[in-house]
Amino acid sequence: MPGCIQLPFLRFYSFSVVFMIDPESKKQHNRREVLKKIGLGSVAGLSGVLGSASPGYGATNHSYLKGMPPIKIKSVKAITTCPHGIELIVVKVETTEPGLYGLGCATFRQRAHTVVSAINDYLNDFCQGKDVDNIEDMWQTTYVSSYWRNGPVLNNALSGLDQALWDIKGKRANMPVYQLLGGKCRFGIDCYAHADGKSPEEVADNVQKFMDQGFRHVRIQPGGYGALHMAQKPDFKEAGFGHKDDNFMDVRPYLRILPKLFEEVRKKCGDDVEILHDIHERIQPMEAINVIKALEPYRPYFIEDPFSPENMGYFKLLRQQTAVPIAMGELFNSPHEWLEPISQRLYDFIRIHISQIGGITPAMKVARLAEWYNVLTAWHGPGDVSPVGHAANAHIDFAVWNFGIQESVNFSDTLKEIFPGSPYVKNGYMYVNEAPGLGVDINEKLAAKFPLPEKQLNNWTQVRKRNGTAIRP
Ligand code: MG
Repeated sequence: MPGCIQLPFLRFYSFSVVFMIDPESKKQHNRREVLKKIGLGSVAGLSGVLGSASPGYGATNHSYLKGMPPIKIKSVKAITTCPHGIELIVVKVETTEPGLYGLGCATFRQRAHTVVSAINDYLNDFCQGKDVDNIEDMWQTTYVSSYWRNGPVLNNALSGLDQALWDIKGKRANMPVYQLLGGKCRFGIDCYAHADGKSPEEVADNVQKFMDQGFRHVRIQPGGYGALHMAQKPDFKEAGFGHKDDNFMDVRPYLRILPKLFEEVRKKCGDDVEILHDIHERIQPMEAINVIKALEPYRPYFIEDPFSPENMGYFKLLRQQTAVPIAMGELFNSPHEWLEPISQRLYDFIRIHISQIGGITPAMKVARLAEWYNVLTAWHGPGDVSPVGHAANAHIDFAVWNFGIQESVNFSDTLKEIFPGSPYVKNGYMYVNEAPGLGVDINEKLAAKFPLPEKQLNNWTQVRKRNGTAIRP
């Protein structure tokens, strides 16, 4: 009967209020006496009342009243694998509960060995014996444990820990992580594919192939970033300046080809497909503003990274010149880099690389901040993010209202074997499996068959101007 169910709850609630608003010890004593008399003097007593009032939840010993049993971190270690020449790093957090562990992405291929050291030599000691449940507290204390912070190496190590703790929490709750973040806002995650080619015609053909696979969003590049294939006669090489592997970018053919590329794709592929482009920060601010204005007739979905992070001040000028949507942020590491631009609506898509800022915990805060300024998410999702990291992107994509678009990659069969349960793409939508946690596991034996190169080989390839001046990516 409804009256019988509600009464004990009302009683408990009213006594709780008395306790909270009157801290004097005498009153507390009186409260205990009263509670004792009505059988609410202990958790057992409370449980008894709730049990009798809520037959649907059983009689006594409710697990939801007791909470989850305490579990500690046993070890934190880095697992590395490099099946396709891309160094992937995953953190594994093992717990005092046999068989319960979590995985998180800490991939920073240009400094892979340094991240491994940050995890194995520092995080492991720092985390051992701590509670697996208090993710926010672990994030905050780990964040300042080096005193100096916000660097890409330590942020990636922190991200691996953070994502692994969310994975563990999901497994403990028997829910996918997106459920813990608030549940789904959409059935699938719109994602974009990458089309490039040496000519606009070739790019348009490749866009059409992705459209035939169901993609509604395609990023187009003229032969990779900056159309390097169109640059000829690198004078700095003839002069013997720089390194033999350095590339030459000639900004003039790149700026000339870009409107032609958009025109060709619109002409061949129609108006239904959304087209994106990444400037990759390589050109001068005024060149970027001018070329973005020239792309207006072709309705870009967004133009990515028009300026390097050192040139953030130009966004205000860009906004006054054009309404083409802008995406920015994959090089950001510190909150100072996104707080002001988001709050001033200087770009439309926040494009953070989640492991570079420290994982799911800070990414959710960025997404929530951005929601109130109508800035949409477009998390960075290239090949140098492990499938665990792509899953972390996807779980957030499901849960935040202001999701915009997700960059996607095609996992090879080897990667899918190393990382069972990886996210997958169908008809231009990304999905995660519904397993508890992030849903991705790792085959450590298979991962070990593809060790990291002993030496750090992968630096970002230098690109230079004709006279040899280094260009910032
Ligand atoms: Mg980019």
